[in-house]
Amino acid sequence: MEKDIFCKIIDGEIPCYKLYEDVDVIAFLDISQVTKGHALVVPKEHYDNFLSTPAPIMHKVFDIAQRIGQIDIQFLGAKGVNILTNCYETAGQTVKHFHVHVIPRYSKEEGFMLEMKAGAEGLNLPVIAQTIKDNL
Ligand code: 5GP
Repeated sequence: MEKDIFCKIIDGEIPCYKLYEDVDVIAFLDISQVTKGHALVVPKEHYDNFLSTPAPIMHKVFDIAQRIGQIDIQFLGAKGVNILTNCYETAGQTVKHFHVHVIPRYSKEEGFMLEMKAGAEGLNLPVIAQTIKDNL
């Protein structure tokens, strides 16, 4: 199977601005800086996305994402931070290797905007809630 871009970074085949590394996790600056300090936190083991990553690894990734977010506020002058992960193409995932974006925010008028509009109407909320509840 062809290695994805993050596997190549992990294996040192592609350079990056590395922020952190341990046996399970690596963090580096996103090549495309949505804002100053935009970082990616990635498990070294390949998992396609957040949903297919074992909980202990997923927790380690989020521990580092949290720390980088705190540093963004304390040391980069960020006023806020967006922490997000896209799962599957439909949700905007372009690299099929689980990663968490840590995006420092300096103002509301930056290149990144997460807009949540109530777009679905006529939903049967009791049935939807029951379906999720029954499978948790
Ligand atoms: P996604 O769209 O899958 O949530 O995010 C993938 C991210 O990986 C994008 O923000 C993109 O800029 C970043 N990216 C893609 N290729 C490279 C690369 O070669 N190096 C680094 N540092 N980031 C990359």
